Amino acid sequence: NKITIAIDGYSSCGKSTLAKALAQRLGYTYIDSGAMYRAVTLYFLRHGIAVEDAQRVKSALGEIQIRFDLANRTLLNGELVESEIREMRVSNYVSEVAAVPEVRRAMVAQQQEMGSEKGIVMDGRDIGTVVFPRAELKIFLTAAAQIRTKRRYDELQAKGVPATLEDIAQNLQHRDHIDSTREDSPLRKAADAVVIDNTSLDRDAQLQQAIALARQ
Ligand code: C5P
Repeated sequence: NKITIAIDGYSSCGKSTLAKALAQRLGYTYIDSGAMYRAVTLYFLRHGIAVEDAQRVKSALGEIQIRFDLANRTLLNGELVESEIREMRVSNYVSEVAAVPEVRRAMVAQQQEMGSEKGIVMDGRDIGTVVFPRAELKIFLTAAAQIRTKRRYDELQAKGVPATLEDIAQNLQHRDHIDSTREDSPLRKAADAVVIDNTSLDRDAQLQQAIALARQ
């Protein structure tokens, strides 16, 4: 029997790596909710849309279509933007964009639609609390900040996206702060989520834990 799996946690603690591997192992669909907020942010940057401009934000949301291809790459209105949405200019603005209630409402609705059938793994900040509060399995991932910085650095290096360790450390702090201190903070552990601290767990050890949980 297929289930819905929600994976939440701080920036760069390996959510997408675990979520992708888990989806692949179980034959499920993986959905990266953060990529959706990033795609909206890219659209706002390209069109000079300020988050304070409620009218323009609203109309922009009607102009944005986000899809994923079979390799889980992000498409914004049909254009492949997978690398561009990982650039620092997007990372530095995404939490402000994601804090706009209208943006969240639109993304949550689309995420619920995408996950209306069982057999999905979705990662983000509010998946277990807001998007799929009834998910059969909720995992909350954490890792030490230093480890997260290094992982994001390696990831960006591998993708050829320029960034220094210092930029990344600052950006993670900034996003963690906004993501966790807003009044309706998206980053909360669901009461029924299982916490996995992967500071000293390798990919395979995490995957084994998650698979065991999914089979319970
Ligand atoms: O997962 P990722 O780090 O790519 O997400 C980018 C940003 O999108 C986060 O820092 C957060 O501000 C926002 N986000 C969110 N809710 C989600 C997923 C991401 O607010 N479910």
